[in-house]
Amino acid sequence: MRLALISFHGCPVARLGEKDTGGMNVYVLNLANELGNLGHQVDVFTRYHDAKDPQIVELGSNVRVIHLSGGPLSETKEDLSLHTSSFAADLHEFISRESINYDLVHSHYWLSGKIASEISRICRIPHVSTFHTLAKTKLRARAGEKETFYRANVETEIMRSANTVLVLTDKEREDIRELYNVPSERITVIPAGVDTGRFNAEDKVTSRKRLHIPDKETILFVGRIEPIKGLDILIDALKTLSNSRDLQLIIVGGNLSGDKELIALRKQAEHLGISEMIDFRGSVEQSELKYYYSAADVFVLPSHYESFGLVALEAMACGTPVVASRVGGIPSFLDDGDTGYLIPWRCPEPFADKIEILLENPDLRAYMGKSAGLKAYQMNWSGIASRMATLYGTVIEEYDLRQAV
Ligand code: UDP
Repeated sequence: MRLALISFHGCPVARLGEKDTGGMNVYVLNLANELGNLGHQVDVFTRYHDAKDPQIVELGSNVRVIHLSGGPLSETKEDLSLHTSSFAADLHEFISRESINYDLVHSHYWLSGKIASEISRICRIPHVSTFHTLAKTKLRARAGEKETFYRANVETEIMRSANTVLVLTDKEREDIRELYNVPSERITVIPAGVDTGRFNAEDKVTSRKRLHIPDKETILFVGRIEPIKGLDILIDALKTLSNSRDLQLIIVGGNLSGDKELIALRKQAEHLGISEMIDFRGSVEQSELKYYYSAADVFVLPSHYESFGLVALEAMACGTPVVASRVGGIPSFLDDGDTGYLIPWRCPEPFADKIEILLENPDLRAYMGKSAGLKAYQMNWSGIASRMATLYGTVIEEYDLRQAV
């Protein structure tokens, strides 16, 4: 198949872990690469993010990332929707110039869904739409999130026009059914995968040495530093734990110079008198992350909302048990009491409680770490990409049949 993936604001080759670069970028990159490995030809279209971006980046013999203009480089995320029409026009021009006949377009996030709806209509190809996050579920997850009615309305339009809405979890299907009134049969569920070649267990002591992490009880968080990730809850939990244990919290992600949320978290730690127990590392190359996951005794993800929560699955692939909020996609792969713990409340005490149980019991940690590794292995990307290719085939067939009528 010849496939166009659109990821307007999430470039698959951007640096990860900073503002607005995270799970979706990883998802698109892994999906494109694995589809390429299966022999499909894949082009990923994204906006230029940096003046140094080359227009075309070849990721392998079958996979290209193609940058097109999508408004000024410094455009805020709030104003990106102003540039989707011109991006769609440039994309159409690129397709015509290169005389490419794509079989299907798969969009990622609502901004890309807007663009793909246009391309699907003009080029007469089916559209599979994945939202990754939705305005209405974010608004429901945490007071203080700001999402517009405009976004929610565009999401509704995309859901109506797309040939299939592809979601990563049953929970997302349920949210879309309930909040956007889309019948379940128009929604397909295929989970995200994890690259087990990249994420696998390394020796704990060696990993700590490599990363200059003191050899003592270690809790880890990895991800974008945003209020929705609930790091304030984890810092409060650390304060409780600090009364009885000598431990450290490593926080990976964010920009160490001037990140507003990071400054607020440092202040919170200072106020609680536990600054010296927390090591903010900033964002880290993904290839280094397995050493962090392996160095940790427990991985914690206290988010208010996660569409999937890839970092928890990556930690599991490295054999580290996870304590995470029971939100979004996390319960779809984290088995409570077997690969870690799911916390239904967004408050510090239950997190401190489960972290302590794991720190106190090396045998339980070893058992859960092993189960976590096995579970993650079943969610390897290559299997997921095959399921995706089968779905694309079905959608194309149904589309062609409808066109023929
Ligand atoms: N990540 C990274 N370096 C960092 C922080 C995060 O490479 O410093 C990657 C991480 O490996 C994961 C992704 O960014 O694949 C974050 O995805 P997740 O689904 O956990 O969170 P999202 O960003 O989608 O909220």
